Amino acid sequence: MKKISLVVPVYNEEEVILQFLRETKAVLQKLRVPYEYVFVDDGSADRTVEILKAQAQKDRRIKLVVFSYNQGKAHAVSAAIAHAKGEYLIYMDPDLQDSPADIPRMLTEIEKGYDLVWGIRKEKRDSFLNRQTSKLFWLLLGKFTGLKIPKGIAVFRVFNREFANEFLKYRESNRFIEGIFLSISKKSTTLQVGQRDRFAGKTKLNLS
Ligand code: UDP
Ligand code: MG
Repeated sequence: MKKISLVVPVYNEEEVILQFLRETKAVLQKLRVPYEYVFVDDGSADRTVEILKAQAQKDRRIKLVVFSYNQGKAHAVSAAIAHAKGEYLIYMDPDLQDSPADIPRMLTEIEKGYDLVWGIRKEKRDSFLNRQTSKLFWLLLGKFTGLKIPKGIAVFRVFNREFANEFLKYRESNRFIEGIFLSISKKSTTLQVGQRDRFAGKTKLNLS
């Protein structure tokens, strides 16, 4: 199989980052394919960078990009995609809300010839208010843009090199990742993935 890149934005994730590496490594090693991690630290103020630097020194498959200040998740993800060299890119948050155990199924799906596989969650494990706001957001977005938005998309998604190159042509400074993804995919599919609670730490995103 072709080389895989895990593209991962991190912001103050000192409590989860090692567990994320442990769990994903266990899964990736079983696949027996070349892989790399591309972590982009979005201006963490905790020990995240220190921890990742130490890991990167031990394992050459771990790449680390460090922002000098917090630019927002969308920028961190974009930078990670820009530095990735793989044929298949896996985008996950490090908080383990999406389960690394689903990586093999996601890869099997993308190998069927899709450019993008959306992980879909059965049920969002967020607060009621968060769920309602997010529902309303996707509903309005669909209405106004005419984009076909799969229901219940998780953070977890896999896409191919061609898709990544297309994504990198977008230069908006105020970027909305899902919108760009929806508009550039020519052949996407969805796959139901498991959801867990955040392994540790708190959500970094606020209501607005
Ligand atoms: N994140 C980031 N920059 C930010 C805020 C968050 O890179 O300014 C990262 C964070 O480390 C996490 C991901 O984006 O990996 C999503 O954040 P979080 O898990 O807090 O959001 P939620 O899952 O609650 O929507
Ligand atoms: Mg999260």
